[in-house]
Amino acid sequence: MKKKINRMLVFIATLAIGCTMILLTFVYYDLFRKQVLEDLRAYAMLMRESEATEQVEVLGGELDDCGIRLTLIGADGSVLFDNEADQTRMENHSERPEIAEALQSGEGYAVRKSETLAASTFYYAVRLDNQGVLRVSKDAGSIYSVFFSALPILLGVLVILVILCMILAHFLTGNLIRPIEHLAQNLDDGNESSDYEELTPFISMIQEQHRDIMKNAQMRQEFTANVSHELKTPLTSISGYAELIETGMASDEDVTRFAHGIHNSANRLLTLINDIIRLSQLDASEQQASFETLDLYDMAETCVDMLSMNAEKHRVSISLMGEPCQIQGNRQMIEELLYNLCDNAIRYNNPGGSVTVEVWPKKQETNGTEEKILVVRDTGIGIPKEHQERIFERFYRVDKSRSKSTGGTGLGLAIVKHIIAIHNADMKLVSEEGKGTSISVIFSN
Ligand code: ADP
Repeated sequence: MKKKINRMLVFIATLAIGCTMILLTFVYYDLFRKQVLEDLRAYAMLMRESEATEQVEVLGGELDDCGIRLTLIGADGSVLFDNEADQTRMENHSERPEIAEALQSGEGYAVRKSETLAASTFYYAVRLDNQGVLRVSKDAGSIYSVFFSALPILLGVLVILVILCMILAHFLTGNLIRPIEHLAQNLDDGNESSDYEELTPFISMIQEQHRDIMKNAQMRQEFTANVSHELKTPLTSISGYAELIETGMASDEDVTRFAHGIHNSANRLLTLINDIIRLSQLDASEQQASFETLDLYDMAETCVDMLSMNAEKHRVSISLMGEPCQIQGNRQMIEELLYNLCDNAIRYNNPGGSVTVEVWPKKQETNGTEEKILVVRDTGIGIPKEHQERIFERFYRVDKSRSKSTGGTGLGLAIVKHIIAIHNADMKLVSEEGKGTSISVIFSN
């Protein structure tokens, strides 16, 4: 970027200097041209006023040495005298522009290119009292010769100016880029602002993305560490039980107990692995989940039926209230969402407690759209305020031993959160420690 800006600045400067020089040549040549004509006019006037035309032959010889040509023309256009050519051989001059003009208005001038491009001939003519015309002319450089003779100086100046521009461009680019480089090195600093106000929204966006990337990287790292830790526990116990059986020292009764332990740990491992796989599938399918029309009430009913045995085991009653209501969703995901919320409501409940699942549509008064609401309410142990923000994080549990003893993996609500995001739904958690929890999911499609 630095190099590119540098090159652009030098290019623009060179172009500007080059154009200025060419323009100046034209301006200078115009002045030069005016000056030559002015001089010729002065000579002609002087000769006319001082009546030097009487001795034109004498003067002509002297002026010849100075490169000035004198021509005396009669009122009919015939050439009476010329200090550079034989007047008898010269054609009638009444048609020449400067002569015609002088005959008509008293004075006339013309500039004609000579055969070579290098010179131009300047003519100035004045009418005399005897109605004849005196013409003074001189060869001078044309615009090309003026330009080419000045070219070495022009090129020298151009080179010096370009070098100067390169040095200036180098410093200027450095100054321009410095705040951006500084920013790139201090992306972690949240309060970093720019010297360029136009860059502020861009910087905020980059900083936000940078923070997200860092957060994601940290989450991924924590997740990997947690997964390893969670897998290690059941595997260690499986390995321990197996080792005890292997030594042959365990009684038959112990072997049965150890086998039960191995079975439990293996099941735990399986559940854990299934949840991990499910989370990574949800991560990947965020954009491509296929949706269909589903009846939320019907699906909640199926879930309640499926979990009623489990609820009975925990001595918790489970019931469904509400009315049919249709949503656009992914069937498997909505099943998982219902299962995880209801399963938690049963597992974190007290004996004799209850779980109520409610489904109903709700018309929005403000914009006339219809929302579909699912609420899973329990009378269980509740979630302390300080944990409520974090229970949707992967592997976050309020009471680790209770979660594990009831078969929890710490991933259920992380899966729920993902599913809610995929369905563009909203969620509300209301919980009071010791009284119960209610989780509402609001679908707007
Ligand atoms: P787990 O497999 O441990 O249940 P979840 O992700 O489903 O993991 O839930 C995370 C934590 O949130 C649980 O360990 C528990 O402490 C708390 N939690 C979830 N649902 C409820 C609920 N209905 N009542 C009380 N606590 C709950």
